[in-house]
Amino acid sequence: MTTRLILATRNQHKVAELRDILGDAGLDVELVGADAYPEIPDVPETGITFAENALLKAHALARATGLPAVADDSGLCVDVLGGAPGILSARWSGKHGDDRANLDLLLAQLSDIAPEHRGAHFFCAAALALPDGTERVVEGRLLGTLRTTPAGDGGFGYDPILQPLGETRTCAELTPAEKNAISHRGQAFRALAPVVKDLIG
Ligand code: IMP
Repeated sequence: MTTRLILATRNQHKVAELRDILGDAGLDVELVGADAYPEIPDVPETGITFAENALLKAHALARATGLPAVADDSGLCVDVLGGAPGILSARWSGKHGDDRANLDLLLAQLSDIAPEHRGAHFFCAAALALPDGTERVVEGRLLGTLRTTPAGDGGFGYDPILQPLGETRTCAELTPAEKNAISHRGQAFRALAPVVKDLIG
């Protein structure tokens, strides 16, 4: 029988990305997004690490639905800022989800930092939780450097300023397929596939 698995997001692109990765891994699971259960409220992200926040979301959804649940939490970590914005990436400028304001503030903060000190990475923790409380967490990273001015129209968030190592383009100049192939989330989701297979496949 096909197992139903729920992903803690209302973003259909994330659902499609994980569905493809689980399919490629030969898993017979039906993946649905959290919008399939609109009555379940979002969980406040009160953790202080990506893994804690991913686990909080996965456990809450598994408890509420009685289904195995996956959740991810990600952000940008800048070397010279000691890993910030990190878990605060979505609200770095003080306003949740204002991508442009977050990016502008970060560029202003780094304005005097030389190119060789502008290392940064996207980080993603992906958690699987079962209704009985079993949990697993995996992670993925996309290493790069930060540009001084944004470039590219694709992607979201900090994509226009992160240039992956070995690339001449920013993440916002890559095609979605190119970004998924190297992204922190793609890597974490691919690392999760054998874990899902092991526990519920
Ligand atoms: P979430 O955990 O996937 O919702 O990501 C939280 C925040 O991290 C987003 O609002 C973005 O600011 C940033 N972020 C995470 N992943 C990416 C990415 O792939 N590109 C650009 N920004 C990202």
